[in-house]
Amino acid sequence: MRPMTRREALQASGVLALAGLAGCSGTESAAATSDAETAAGGSARGSAGSSAEGLPTPFVVPQSTIPVLGRDEVFPVRRIYCIGRNYAAHAIEMGSDPTREPPFFFQKPTDAIQLAWPGEVLDHSYPPLTRNYHYEVELVVALRGGGRDISPDEALDRVYGYAVGLDMTRRDLQLASRAEEKPWEIGKSFDNSAVLGPLHHVADVGHFHAGRIRLSVNGEVKQEADLEQMIWNVAEQISQLSQGSELRPGDIIYSGTPENVGPVVVGDLMEGHIDGLTDIAVRVV
Ligand code: MN
Repeated sequence: MRPMTRREALQASGVLALAGLAGCSGTESAAATSDAETAAGGSARGSAGSSAEGLPTPFVVPQSTIPVLGRDEVFPVRRIYCIGRNYAAHAIEMGSDPTREPPFFFQKPTDAIQLAWPGEVLDHSYPPLTRNYHYEVELVVALRGGGRDISPDEALDRVYGYAVGLDMTRRDLQLASRAEEKPWEIGKSFDNSAVLGPLHHVADVGHFHAGRIRLSVNGEVKQEADLEQMIWNVAEQISQLSQGSELRPGDIIYSGTPENVGPVVVGDLMEGHIDGLTDIAVRVV
């Protein structure tokens, strides 16, 4: 599908007032988010200076949101889950056995979201501490419903929409943590590590059981696979996650990356594609 420009996307979704929002990771976020909540008819939770108990708060913590193409609303983010090693060939390249491993999940902080507008190139800063910074292109699933012990048959009813995402990874730190049997946190959960495009509502695009997923760097294809190669499909991911934690509206899931992850350096242009969703373009700066 032809990428929408930022203007087209905003006009389509009726959120022109939210031009500075983009995942609320900047200093302008507090004001933008207040506007966003007003524009979206949002509630008081977390907004300008008062708590659910009616007490003042000393500062405002912005609510992370994701724009939705063609809808007069934005999607508020509660939690960001990511599944590990969900394509067999990627599991093998990471040194594990894809045939025996149950799915496992980790989280990124909600404010790690950085939005890549269709038709624009996002500037994405090379993060500190790493010397081996990797892309992982992934299908992102956004939930409008939740629950515990959700069966795979009922899981897709909880889906709000989908986006193209990059689970950016400080691979050297992830692997060092793994070798020392420490948490992956420092390799996976850092500022701006959850790059994604705007959401497409499920009513507009349906569900994604198959379709090409691809990542190019400087015009050269690096990762390419089909969504049907996922070891655990979207319904199974939701079902499995809901056994360990209650899922709630606002949760999103990065559904795993295919093989051939690799490094980027300053100046590289990453382009992410999934059939049926708008592409994203991200420049490392
Ligand atoms: Mn990943």
